[in-house]
Amino acid sequence: MHKRLFTPGPTEVRPEILKELSTPQVHHRSPEFSKLYTEIQPKLQKLMYTKNPVFLFTSSSTGAMEAAVTNLVVKRCLNLVNGAFSKRWHEITVANGVPCDAFEIDWEVALKPQMVDEQLQSGKYDAVTLVFNETSTGLMNPLREIAEVVNRYPDVFLLVDAVSAMAGVKIETDAWNIDFVLAGVQKAFALPAGLAVASVSERALSRAQAVPPRSYYFNLTKMHKSHLKNQTPSTPAIPHLFALNAQLDDMLDEGLDERFARHEAMAKIVQSWAVKYFDIYSEEGYWSKTLTCVKNTRGIAVADLISTLAKDYNLRISNGYGSIKEKTFRIAHMGDTQLDEIEGLLRVIETVLNL
Ligand SMILES: *Cc1c(COP(=O)(O)O)cnc(C)c1O
Repeated sequence: MHKRLFTPGPTEVRPEILKELSTPQVHHRSPEFSKLYTEIQPKLQKLMYTKNPVFLFTSSSTGAMEAAVTNLVVKRCLNLVNGAFSKRWHEITVANGVPCDAFEIDWEVALKPQMVDEQLQSGKYDAVTLVFNETSTGLMNPLREIAEVVNRYPDVFLLVDAVSAMAGVKIETDAWNIDFVLAGVQKAFALPAGLAVASVSERALSRAQAVPPRSYYFNLTKMHKSHLKNQTPSTPAIPHLFALNAQLDDMLDEGLDERFARHEAMAKIVQSWAVKYFDIYSEEGYWSKTLTCVKNTRGIAVADLISTLAKDYNLRISNGYGSIKEKTFRIAHMGDTQLDEIEGLLRVIETVLNL
């Protein structure tokens, strides 16, 4: 029996979209493929509020995170860390031998523009990595305000992981001057895992050309060359692209503003519920609009709750991430999930826990 996913990735995929994966295959060097590619581009650009090209990565989000730091840092990268995924980005930067420093703060609190300003004043950096929505803690960093600060330093590129936010929250890539913003599609896009997308600014493309290639597969210059032919350098996840194309149509049909408003409404429902019965892990004012990390103030056995929900109700939520397992649990309210479904889940949890 299928267990309905309320996990912050992968998220539930609608049957109509799953069907798209079995579209008869086209050859990736054929005009049919280029047609598919050119259909997808403007829709992704709309979703990301950008005129920049949007590259398609046949990898999970981690691959696109690696592409950002291997292609776009010449001098030194500042990795802003306040959660597991931003920490991972620092580890990726280190693992690739890219000069970098982590600026790490308490995971419960948001990164503030002023902190970033203080770090950049050193003049050491030409790139900053920021995770917009920390999926490990349910915390949304103030991206627009941080972008404003970064933009005061003309040589510093802003690289953003928007994995669990994009397609659920508005990201104005061009207005905020974001050089690289990436997302995997198994979160708020509500698609099966295995594909990532990233918009790349013009100046980022120039810098990528100047950096000695650190990666063969994740090479933005190569990707751009292929992009100009409406192709990808190697065989892409063609089944995914059919599904992405259809899902983008559905998102635009729903209306982006309506989609973002639905995410906000779901967040309100879950967060007022969490405050009523428990508490919320992250700093108030920065609660994520796509998932809630509930602080287990009642000392419930989280693993038991999760297995009961799965076994008896075919519903799946997530335990806390890493060291905050059992101390927290996470409910995703993103993708194609509707308000009544989220209400239904909360009623079931109340029943199971006798709240
Ligand atoms: C899920 C997630 C990732 C990692 O994604 P993969 O697709 O598993 O590589 C990175 N960053 C954030 C914020 C995420 O939520």
